Amino acid sequence: MAKLEIDWTRCDGHGLCATLLPDDVALDEWGFPVLRGRGIDADEVPNARRAVLACPALALRLGRGGG
Ligand code: SF4
Repeated sequence: MAKLEIDWTRCDGHGLCATLLPDDVALDEWGFPVLRGRGIDADEVPNARRAVLACPALALRLGRGGG
């Protein structure tokens, strides 16, 4: 199962990922993303890929969740 990952050296808290993937990403009080830790099912992958491509800082990745 795939899993979202954030490159913290790049993320600058635009919050777009939380808007596009509200089931997977929350925002902390500073507007930085907090991953909810869900696995991304196969049918959710296209949506997650769109969010990855939409991240203005290229900080969001879709990796393998290891299970
Ligand atoms: S869209 Fe990208 S830069 Fe913005 S909060 Fe999400 S991971 Fe960070």
